[in-house]
Amino acid sequence: MSKVEAFLTQEEEQEIISAIKIAEKNTSGEIRVHIEASTEKNHYERSLEVFYLLKMDETKDRNGVLIYVAVKDKKFVIYGDKGINNVVSDDFWDTTKDVIQNHFKKGNFKQGIVDGILKAGEELKEHFPWQIDDEDELSNEISKG
Ligand code: CA
Ligand code: CA
Repeated sequence: MSKVEAFLTQEEEQEIISAIKIAEKNTSGEIRVHIEASTEKNHYERSLEVFYLLKMDETKDRNGVLIYVAVKDKKFVIYGDKGINNVVSDDFWDTTKDVIQNHFKKGNFKQGIVDGILKAGEELKEHFPWQIDDEDELSNEISKG
């Protein structure tokens, strides 16, 4: 089994998808998770590449958020689109990052991702509240590299 497949059980994947659905009930922001084993590239650069590969820049309010995880490298990046960066401070994702980091340090990967998603949803709520005409613009499925 590849590292990525061993990373999360089917059940854990479902928990992550549920967390995305819950988070997206708070905000019009669209959250996606991408998991891969490792990359030769700089992790930030790679997360940007994945962001565009997944067409996450095509949301109406440019408020997509990618949680990128390179399992073997033990690295993760939270990348938010322009619409978010235009209205928040540079340290906007710090709390979410801390939540994920604390779980990852203990080896609790699934919980780190789940809590990170929920935290991101809460943080986004203030700037991008959920609207009655909200559409699920980006798939909630986990993307795997
Ligand atoms: Ca939405
Ligand atoms: Ca979605």
